[in-house]
This record gives sequence, structure tokens and C-alpha cells, in this order.
Amino acid sequence: MAKTDNKTSVPKRRANNGKLSFGGKWQYAKAPESTDHVAIEDRYGLFIGGAWVRPKSGKYFATINPATEKKIAEVAQANKKDVDAAVQAAKKALPAWRKLSGDDRARFLFRIARILQERAREFAVLETLDNGKPIKETRDVDVPLAAQHFFYHAGWADKLELLFPGEKPEPVGVVGQIIPWNFPLLMAAWKIAPALAAGNTVVIKPAETSPLTALRLCEVFEQAELPAGVVNVVTGDGSTGAALVRHPDLNKVAFTGSTEVGKEIQKAVAGRSVDLTLELGGKAAHLVFEDAALDQAVEGVVRGIFFNQGHVCCAGSRLIVQESVHDLFVRKLQRRMARIRVGDPLDKNTDMGAIHSSEQLMRIRGLVQSGVDEGAVLFQPKCALPKNGFWFVPSMFTGVTQSHRISREEIFGPVLSVSTFRTPEEAVKKANDTSYGLSAGIWTDKGARILWVASRIRAGIVWNNTFNLFDAASPFGGYQESGFGREGGRQGLRAYVKLRSGLLPG
Ligand code: ADP
Repeated sequence: MAKTDNKTSVPKRRANNGKLSFGGKWQYAKAPESTDHVAIEDRYGLFIGGAWVRPKSGKYFATINPATEKKIAEVAQANKKDVDAAVQAAKKALPAWRKLSGDDRARFLFRIARILQERAREFAVLETLDNGKPIKETRDVDVPLAAQHFFYHAGWADKLELLFPGEKPEPVGVVGQIIPWNFPLLMAAWKIAPALAAGNTVVIKPAETSPLTALRLCEVFEQAELPAGVVNVVTGDGSTGAALVRHPDLNKVAFTGSTEVGKEIQKAVAGRSVDLTLELGGKAAHLVFEDAALDQAVEGVVRGIFFNQGHVCCAGSRLIVQESVHDLFVRKLQRRMARIRVGDPLDKNTDMGAIHSSEQLMRIRGLVQSGVDEGAVLFQPKCALPKNGFWFVPSMFTGVTQSHRISREEIFGPVLSVSTFRTPEEAVKKANDTSYGLSAGIWTDKGARILWVASRIRAGIVWNNTFNLFDAASPFGGYQESGFGREGGRQGLRAYVKLRSGLLPG
């Protein structure tokens, strides 16, 4: 695709001084000053077989900045033929890639991780522009964690046989991956890194409203001289995703997104010999006991629901607090919420950025209205919102019952619902009263209580005295309608290998 002069300039900012917000443990690598200007093309093609190609559909659509509603760029709408070309490219690249030694594959992954670190600032700015999330989150969480996923999986690429002792791990083959808009770069890294480490080749489809960092990642692949066709990126909407999961030459599908679409995909692969992992919605319980360090718990609850505007499948959206400290805790939360800075995502002081899309804003508004209609009590601090763009004030409902829609349905926005419990048994019962099971959080001073509660909660991840802390070594995934399969850690790699019994030669 032709380069253009359409450059988006952002003001010079200081690199992160190593301070962390929202719990990320991985530090931002100081980026070169030259990335203060992020060059963005007018139009992007598809990345297939190591080359940028025009879509056979001839169609493009716009991706906008949710904080301004201004168009950033146009991206290609891939159709069935484009998807087929991408799958064929992945298929062609497979024999050579899987034959490479783990050590050689690791070299590519290490290189990708290093380049991501070097270009961290550029990726952070681009992600913030395309997604609407605050720069301090893209800078301190999204980009460093994306690099960490490549580093982590590079480390396993030549040690797979140690991970699965007595068995011979082999790549699954050509993998189709579909990702959502809430963590565009990070989700791409979560999906691509383990697939490549295990010797698979990939066709990945980013979400239609946030495709730019996945496309930019292709530049990193080019820079790292990743062999052509090992990763192919097709942009487009749900129809592109549907064409991908239906492609007969796929050996595995990995999906992160809504429970609704997850069910569609399950139907589409049923009866075919295609492996499937699904990471879907959530409605996490966040339990606060009366003996918890309440001020710390307030910070954890704020991080749990307002991080990334609440566009987080594992968000702690249901606060269930012990009755004896309910009033005090709610007052503390209200004071803290009044200090959340909502606004320009490119400002490093911003805590909460823009809602990702007008559709998502409508959904949030609709569910908040249902909370009011059903009799819960809404608290919203005074908060000046920008005129253009999509915005929502940090919100909290008290007096919520288990039957309220706001307590049952995933809002995927900055809306906390608060209810109470008296005994640990009741806390567990309420926490488990959900169709989901992705994550949960517990705040208490008592170690024995943490173990007692955590072992009874049906959720893939249970955070103790912290929340929304991620690490490539830690498996992530759900129960029930939150999906199946794990990403990250040994369990995550398991989904990208086939195991043959015994250490067979060859
Ligand atoms: P979200 O709630 O994050 O918008 P979606 O499940 O709608 O979640 O979208 C997640 C990803 O799934 C996006 O990349 C989207 O384009 C894709 N997608 C949407 N519909 C389908 C479908 N029927 N088959 C495959 N992928 C789809």
C-alpha cells in the first residue's frame, strides 16, 4: 500500500519512569525519541504471505478515534476469497516453519519481542488513538505485556518436550484466530506467540473497530524477517470472521469475544476435526470482607471495574461487600470515584479514556437505564466530559439484587454494581450465582479465608488482595459461558500442540 503524508503527531511525552498503574508488573522500555510522531497510512491492505495486498473485495472501511470520532485510516474488508488466500499462505508456510528447530523459532519470537519494546511508544500511541484507552495503560500494561508474551513463549519454543514429559508435542497446523477490540495488540500477542512457539502458522482477524496495532505488528514481523506466510492478518467485520472459522483447511480456531459469537463459532466448527478454544464474557464477583485493608480494597475495586473503561471480560463488575462495612466502603468508593480523571486518552494523567464505540456506549446506557428502572440506586460523580467522542461517567449502583439485569448481564463498561453478604457461605453463593466464570477477587486479611473462598468459587482466575493482574506465565480462561481452554502458561501452550504418546523418533 502506498505510504502517504497523513501523519498523526502527538506531543512529546516523557517516557515512563517505571511507576506502575493498574497493577502491571512489566516495565515500559524507554522508546526512542523518533517515535514521537506516529506515521499512519491513509489506507491499509491485508498482510498475506509476507506481503501487503489489496483486498479482492475491493472494499475498505474506516477506523475512527473514539475520543474524537475522527477517521484515522481505512482498512480492507476481507471477503471469503481473501480469507482463503490467507489460509493458503499459512498452509504453504507450515511445513518449513514446523520443521525449524525450536531454537530457531525462539530466535524469531525473541526478535519480535525486542522490536516491540523498541517501538513501544509508537504502539502505545497508536493503540490509544484507535481504541480510546488511556496512554498510561497502553504504555504500562498493553505494550509491555504484549512483548512479555513473545519473550515468555520464545523461552518455551525449544523446551516443549520438557513441558509435556513422555509425549511428543507437534504443532496443530494452521490456526485461525479472532480477537476483540478491548486489548487489540495484547490479544494479538496472546494468540500469536504460543501458536508460533509450538510451530503453527496463523491467520488472525482483528476487531473491525481496532485493527491498527495488529497491522502495525506485521511491520514488526517484516523487521524480524519472520518467514512469509507464518502470520497473516485479515481485517474485516463479523463476516470475515465467519468466513475464517468456516474455512475447511483450518486445524484450530481460537476466539476471544462475546459469548453470543462464541456460541456461533461453536456451531460453525461442530462436526469438523477442528480444535477450538473460546475466551468469552464475564461477570466477576469482587468480594470484600470486613477484615480487609479497606483503603487498599478500594483501590483494587476501582482498578477492577474502571481499568480500560470497564471494557474487560474479567472486570470486577459485581462488588459483594460484607454488610458490616458496606456503608463505609461505599462512601470511600464514592470519594475515590470523584477523583478519577476522565478525558483525553493521550494525556498521561488520564485515568479513564473514551468508550470504544457508539454501539458500546448505547449498550452501556441501556443497561444503566435498566438498573435505574429496576430500582437500584445510581451514583455518578460530577465529571465534565469532552464534547466529541464517546464517554461515560464512572458509575456505581447500590441496592442491587441478584435478579437485576445489571447484576447478571455483562455491561463491558465503567459500571459497578454493589450488593452485600453476611457470611462467607453467602458470599460464595452470590459469587457463583452467574452464568459466567472467568474471574473473581477476594479482599481479606485472613489467609485461611482466602483459601476457603477461592477453592469454592467457580472461576478460571481468583485474585487475592489484588485485581486485574496479568502475567504470561499465568493461565487465563473461563468456566461455563466464559468459554473453555486456557491462554498463557503451560496450559495455554497445550492448546497449540497435539501430543503423541512416547518419545517417537522423527
Ligand atoms: P465484542 O463484544 O468484543 O464486540 P464480538 O464477539 O462481537 O465481541 O467480536 C469479537 C470478534 O469476533 C471481532 O473480531 C468480530 O469481528 C468477530 N466476529 C463477529 N461475528 C462473528 C462471527 N459470526 N464469526 C466469527 N467472528 C465474528
